[in-house]
Amino acid sequence: MMPGSQQWCALLAKGALEAGLPLQLNHIELMGRHARALLEWNRNINLTAITDPADVAVKHFLDAIVPSHHIPWEGELLDIGTGGGFPGIPLKILRPDQPMTLIDGSRKKINFVKHAIRILCLEKIEALQARAEDLADRPENRGRFDVVVSRAVSDLAVMARLALPLLAPQGKLLLYQGPSESPRQADAAMLLAPSLTLMTKVEYRLPVLGDQRTLLVIGKTVS
Ligand code: SAM
Repeated sequence: MMPGSQQWCALLAKGALEAGLPLQLNHIELMGRHARALLEWNRNINLTAITDPADVAVKHFLDAIVPSHHIPWEGELLDIGTGGGFPGIPLKILRPDQPMTLIDGSRKKINFVKHAIRILCLEKIEALQARAEDLADRPENRGRFDVVVSRAVSDLAVMARLALPLLAPQGKLLLYQGPSESPRQADAAMLLAPSLTLMTKVEYRLPVLGDQRTLLVIGKTVS
């Protein structure tokens, strides 16, 4: 199966529908274009360990969008450690009006994300080569983001520390977690900084494969 082929698009559409998320044709077309570019660039730079096109559809695109109704649509969104653009780019495809910033410490990965933004003609989105801790050093970024998302970057305690200074006073931090991170979730609330509260643990299954995933929804409670 080629990424972006009719068969690939059908798998993506069917999986999204299975999760109660009907995709429009333009969403599917843009995700196909992103997937093709991801696997092409992946031959030369290490963007993802997932190289089977069907797995890319399920483990990258569907994982990013299936729990997305728990991610606020209002305000500016930051994706920390976006890698090949996940979850930021699939979220952007679904929400063209929400301003987004995607950061990664790796220049090569950000060069790819910039390329993807260009070929998908996405607007109100910026890709920056930066580490989260350095972004927070700049006064204009402190308390700037209403929504911070991140997947597969670091553990909860580290992510809480990185996101806290960047979050707006009533901001939300959404952490996508895979199965290997599950045991830590029991202690989630205790690991958090006092001004962060674990609001919801959204458990969901990846369409098609049925693998268990979790989205932690964490709220900032003071300025
Ligand atoms: N989020 C993507 C995904 O789920 O496919 C990429 C995950 S990859 C395992 C982790 C990424 O986080 C790497 O690209 C790495 O360069 C980046 N990263 C790690 N620590 C970071 C930090 N403190 N600030 C920005 N990026 C970071």
